[in-house]
Amino acid sequence: MTESRRFKNQIVIKGYNEGVTGSAIRCIVERSFYDKFRFLVDFGFYQGAEYEELSYNDTINPSKLDAVFLTHNHFDHAGALPLLAKKGYKNKIYTSIPTSELLGIAYDDSLSIFAERIKEKSKGAKMIYNSGDVRKTLDLTKPMRYQKTINLAENLTAILFENQHLVGASIVLVRSKVYDTQEVNILFTGDYNNKNSFLENIELPEWVYKLKNLTIVTEATYGDTNSCDIKHVWADNVTRACMDEKSILLLCFAQGRFQEMLYQIKCLQEQGKIPSDYLILADGKSGIQYSFSYAQNKKLGISSEMKNFFPSKIEFVNNKNRQALLHTHEKKIIVSTSGMGNFGPARTYIPEMLPLKNSVIHFSGYTAEGTLGRKLQELECGESISISGITIPKRAEIYNTSEFSSHAKADELIAFIKKFSNVRSVLVTHGEPKTKEKFAKRVVKETSVNKVGVLGNGYSYRIGPYGIIKSIQD
Ligand SMILES: [Zn+2]
Repeated sequence: MTESRRFKNQIVIKGYNEGVTGSAIRCIVERSFYDKFRFLVDFGFYQGAEYEELSYNDTINPSKLDAVFLTHNHFDHAGALPLLAKKGYKNKIYTSIPTSELLGIAYDDSLSIFAERIKEKSKGAKMIYNSGDVRKTLDLTKPMRYQKTINLAENLTAILFENQHLVGASIVLVRSKVYDTQEVNILFTGDYNNKNSFLENIELPEWVYKLKNLTIVTEATYGDTNSCDIKHVWADNVTRACMDEKSILLLCFAQGRFQEMLYQIKCLQEQGKIPSDYLILADGKSGIQYSFSYAQNKKLGISSEMKNFFPSKIEFVNNKNRQALLHTHEKKIIVSTSGMGNFGPARTYIPEMLPLKNSVIHFSGYTAEGTLGRKLQELECGESISISGITIPKRAEIYNTSEFSSHAKADELIAFIKKFSNVRSVLVTHGEPKTKEKFAKRVVKETSVNKVGVLGNGYSYRIGPYGIIKSIQD
């Protein structure tokens, strides 16, 4: 028997998340009966009420994992990693240097959220992991420079590339070759975007676009939306609210959008669209910590002109000064976590501002089913809602916009796939089930790729040098 017949070069890829939270992709590189390498790309938390029971995925066995890649520091990608450490995972967690710098802030935030939920006696609330598990997780983290080859096993390597989705985000390329078999290349986009105010626009190296035998595992959060469909309403809403002398609550995630929001306020101030008497409040411990890291930490790769993104007249809010600042007579713009309104200081601001006609509450992206953010948007004006046992009328104007989304839209994802010259297959992940199916059809229609799989919708996929070999029903 020749070497090439005894040795195969295949990768089995399974996605665990049906929707857009709780991201986890498990891969098994199979090169002979004995030579198997198992790795995970991300291990995130589920968010939203219907996922309470699925807060982590118990079917992933850490003792059978040889490596983990963390694409970026968002809770739905990194949030469950301490569970692996808790259950005995002892191998490396590869991530970029900026992500490793910021990860500690994220886990402190998760521990506070667990504690907050226990204190409020929320259904199913518990310390899902503790500070010891977080410490173990951070110790397992292996910060990697972008574009540096990681040797996982013999003839099995990985490389992280910069990704504009978030400061520290990576695209991960895994390359496998054994004896005289054809190479298999798998490119994981992670959450992907092609622009970011805080980063230089860095393209993938030319050789990556020319890789042979490539399968792309792409996200598809906005797989049914084109970039031209996104309405840019935020600046107009904020400007109009200021002209009407209303106070504004801007809710956003702690890393990425929080800093973007502050920067956009600074831009409006410079254009004279926010009156000089407006006070700017920044609230949310982790949001403030990330903001100072963006401004000061040289390892994050923030472009130099973006280091000074703070607006003028800004006050940083904490538990001690919150009530006093909230009740000053000045009109204010409050930038606060959490993005979906469920946690953090949003829980103080929403009940205060929701009943007031001269208030605007503005969400800045996806709000999961069952979250306070989603409920407020669905509630008719004048109707009431119960928040932590207090019934409150909705009189404030409520808006949401996806213009700050850090995910590429369907047309941009298609353009990205088309840049590669030898794509054998595409696997679609990270999107609502119907959105993923729709985007899969679009890939087949608009690119030269003939085989497209959908992760998390009931199938795993066996990938070889020529792309999908077969699908396996879960
Ligand atoms: Zn993300």
